[in-house]
Amino acid sequence: MSRWDAVVTGAGPAGSATALLLARAGARVLLLDRARFPRDKACSEYLTPETTRVLERLGGGILERVEGSAPARLTGMRIVTPDGTTALGRFRAGTGYAPPRPYGFALPRTVFDGILVEAAVRAGAELREETTVEDLVREAGAVSGVRARSTGGATREVLRARVVVGADGLRSVVARRLGHRRSGPPRRIAYSAHAADVRGVTDVGEMHIGPDGYVGLGPIGNGETTVALVVPASRAARALTEPGEFVRALEAFPGLRGRFRSDRLTRAVLATGPFAQWSRASTGDGVVLVGDAADFFDPFTGQGIYSALRGAELAAEAVTLALARGGAGPVPGHLLAPYRRARRRVFGAKWVLERLIGAGVGWPALATRVVRRLARAPELADLLVGATGNFVPASRVLRPATLTSLLA
Ligand SMILES: Cc1cc2nc3c(=O)[nH]c(=O)nc-3n(C[C@H](O)[C@H](O)[C@H](O)COP(=O)(O)OP(=O)(O)OC[C@H]3O[C@@H](n4cnc5c(N)ncnc54)[C@H](O)[C@@H]3O)c2cc1C
Repeated sequence: MSRWDAVVTGAGPAGSATALLLARAGARVLLLDRARFPRDKACSEYLTPETTRVLERLGGGILERVEGSAPARLTGMRIVTPDGTTALGRFRAGTGYAPPRPYGFALPRTVFDGILVEAAVRAGAELREETTVEDLVREAGAVSGVRARSTGGATREVLRARVVVGADGLRSVVARRLGHRRSGPPRRIAYSAHAADVRGVTDVGEMHIGPDGYVGLGPIGNGETTVALVVPASRAARALTEPGEFVRALEAFPGLRGRFRSDRLTRAVLATGPFAQWSRASTGDGVVLVGDAADFFDPFTGQGIYSALRGAELAAEAVTLALARGGAGPVPGHLLAPYRRARRRVFGAKWVLERLIGAGVGWPALATRVVRRLARAPELADLLVGATGNFVPASRVLRPATLTSLLA
């Protein structure tokens, strides 16, 4: 018999939240991460307003601890095109939908992810840091555990479980070993940093679209700003991780000139990518994939953390029901399939919208046309920003009349 009901690979938002919910439901959960927390992650570190509702549901004091960490509160998003056209969308009630609060939190991932990991441990999950999953173990074709190695390779062991949760991010080993991983356009690379004393930062996130990439920035509390430069993979260069080169690349965006100083970057420039990557199936015999391990398209709309946490809720529900059916070996895939169906139901429209926006920012002329329209129609800007904030259903924006009016 397996010692664990679930081995969760990766203790980012997807893994920690899944581990927390499974442990709270009575499962024996082992949570593995190759890093030691606090660990950083290339991210713009903003939680969409709807994420607040998920944090509330997760309980365990998570929302209170986020609020107590002096996060920034973003009240909307400003989009700037290459010719300087600007549109502002606010997180506010309208067209029948309302955010739980008129803002989304923004805080460093070192803090946020630490809060989630601690909550998972308090709920009863056992955490093993500096443990890298290298491979999957199979039993009659079903996944029955993982092969893991401690940092430095001193210890290697097989950890068996009835379900393996792959929550190991964009370059998921679990998804790759399943043979499920796929990648495709737009194939972008991101460089992200923290900076102090950035000029002109307000309580609104900023997205600057250029002819060859875009930049997202916003406050994350304590006077710091998070900034991410996203470029086509063909423009990726190691030099962009050097502060001087990074700030020079930011200066190419008219709305950013003179706002950053290379000697005021407060964290190393982290690189990640390429996007998009996704898994052909999010469930199999004895295995589920959550968060970026399941899919990640592009950072422009900033909803990966929401997807990771909401996906964790859906995964934990299906895995808990499947485990309750009893048995000793790997949980058969058909008992986990409800998770796959739930993902399609909950995320289907959002995936389409994310792809339309992510592809659209690669066409500056099209982006400029849409932003000009948004600048003339603030209620449309609020609607679109509300959908990317996850509190307006994406299907609302995908209505033919709305799409037509965005291009008018
Ligand atoms: C530039 C950029 C900006 C972004 N901005 C935002 C934003 O503002 N808001 C937002 O919501 N989303 C944003 N995202 C997306 C967001 O960062 C991700 O979607 C989110 O982190 C996904 O969470 P996760 O738990 O699936 O993966 P991760 O957070 O990547 O966690 C995966 C964990 O798995 C561990 N791991 C990996 N491999 C192994 C292994 N083999 N063995 C053991 N452990 C392993 C890692 O150490 C890590 O802790 C952004 C992404 C990028 C690239």
